[in-house]
Amino acid sequence: MSKQAVDVLFVHGNVFTMGGSGVGAIEDGAIAIRGSEIVAVGRTDELLANYEAPEVIDTSPFAILPGLIDCHVHTPEALLRGVAQDVPDYMERAMAPFSRALTPELWLAGTRLNVIEGLKAGTTTTMDFITPYPGWAEFYDSLGVRAQLTPKINGLAPDAMSTAKGGLYAFDNAKGRRMINAALAFADRWQDEADGRITVMMGPQAPDMLSPELLREIKDHADRRGLRIHMHVAQGDREIRQMEMRYGTRSIPFLEDLGYLDEHLLAVHLTEATDEEVRTLVRHGASMAVCSGCIGLLDGIVPPAALFRSEGGYVGLGTDSASSNNCINLFNEMKLTAVLNKVKAKRPDIIPAWQALRMATIEGAHAIGLGDRIGSLEPGKQADLILIDLQELNLSPVVHAPVRNLVPNLVYSASGHEVDSVMVAGRFLMRGREILTANERGIRVDAQAASEEVMRRVLADPAHRSLSLLDAMKADDL
Ligand SMILES: [Zn+2]
Repeated sequence: MSKQAVDVLFVHGNVFTMGGSGVGAIEDGAIAIRGSEIVAVGRTDELLANYEAPEVIDTSPFAILPGLIDCHVHTPEALLRGVAQDVPDYMERAMAPFSRALTPELWLAGTRLNVIEGLKAGTTTTMDFITPYPGWAEFYDSLGVRAQLTPKINGLAPDAMSTAKGGLYAFDNAKGRRMINAALAFADRWQDEADGRITVMMGPQAPDMLSPELLREIKDHADRRGLRIHMHVAQGDREIRQMEMRYGTRSIPFLEDLGYLDEHLLAVHLTEATDEEVRTLVRHGASMAVCSGCIGLLDGIVPPAALFRSEGGYVGLGTDSASSNNCINLFNEMKLTAVLNKVKAKRPDIIPAWQALRMATIEGAHAIGLGDRIGSLEPGKQADLILIDLQELNLSPVVHAPVRNLVPNLVYSASGHEVDSVMVAGRFLMRGREILTANERGIRVDAQAASEEVMRRVLADPAHRSLSLLDAMKADDL
C-alpha cells in the first residue's frame, strides 16, 4: 500500500493531544501535517507506516502540545510593565498618569512586544481587547499567529470615572455609538481574515460603561453578524456599586434581563460574582476568562474559576496586561490558577495540573468559540502546536512509569523559556527559540524607546507627584 504524502511529520515525541476528557497522552507519538491542518495523530510506528513527508522531524527530546490560548489581554500596556504594583489604589494613584501618557501612536510598539513575548512562551492565539488602531490587526497577520481581536466599545463620558466622586458615571451615547460603528467596520474588514487566523468579537467594555440602549444595540449587531461578545463582567466592587445605584440590581442579573447571557458570551474576571450568579452564567452557556495573576495582584482575590468549571462551564486563561500582571505568559497563569484555587479551597485536589493545561488549550478554545478549529491536536484541526524542550534542567528528569511526571512539571515547573519551537496553521513561527517572522531585537528596542517617551510625558504631568509608588522609591523599596 502506498503511503500518503504530507508536508511535515513529527515523530518520536511525547504528544499530549488534549483530545477526549483528559490530556490525550501518546508516548513515542507522531503528528502528520498537510498545509495548515493536522492529518493524523498516533504512535510513531503507525504514522511512519502510512505517511511520508519531505520534512520528518525527530522530536524525541520534546513534549508536543497544542499552542496555548490567551483569552484576555490588552497588549499596548506592555509599555507600562512594572510601574504600578502592590498598591491599594491602582487606578487612581498608580496607573492614571501612565494611562494618559500612553497615546495611540505608541500602542503598536506595546502590542508587538507583548505578542512576541507570548509567542516565545507558547501562546499561539491571543484575544486582544483594545481600541483599534492602524497596524494592530496587520501585525498579527504578518507575524502569522492566530488572534481573536476585540475592538473596545466604551460609552462613558470623558473623565466620567474621575468626576463621578462616588456618584454615577455620566454616559456619552454619541461617543459610544462612534465606537460601535468603528467596531463594526473593523469586523467587516477582519472577521475570518488571513485564512481564518484572524477573527473578531464585539467588546462592550463592561455592563456599567454603556447605557442599556447601546448594550442592546451591540447585542443585536453581534447576533445578526454571528459575532461573539467579549466583556469584563463583575470585575470589581466599583462596577457592582454603579449597577446597584443605577438599576437597583447587580451586573449578572442585569445582563440576564438584557439577553446577554448565552453561549456567545465570554465573561472576563467575575471577581465579584456570587456562587448563584456563576451558576446562572453556566446555565445560560456563557464562558469565563480567568486572569489569576492580574486579579491576584490588583485585588488580592481569587475569581470563581473552579466553581465555574465544576458546574460545567468552559474557563480559559487570560494574562490581562503587563501593567497589572507583569508577564504575558500562560505557564505563569496555569500555575497561579492551580495554586491560588487550592489555597482558596484549602484543598490540593482542586484544579490539578491536567485541568490547568486543559484551560490553557482545549477549554480556552471552546471558551472563545474556536473549539472546532484549535485547542487540541486532532485530525482536521489547525496545526497550531508547540515543542517543549524536556532537556531543560527544570523539566528533568522525565519518567513514564510507574507515574508519568510530564504534565505536573509542565504546569508547576515550566516557565515558558522551555518552548523551543512554535507552529501556527502548519507554519513554523519560531524554531530553536528564534522568531522567524519578525525582528525580535528590533521590537524590543522600539518598545524601550516608546516606553521612554511615555515616561517623559508622565514626568511632565504634575499628577505624577502623587503617585503612591514615589513613597516606595524614597524608602529605597523600589
Ligand atoms: Zn481586561
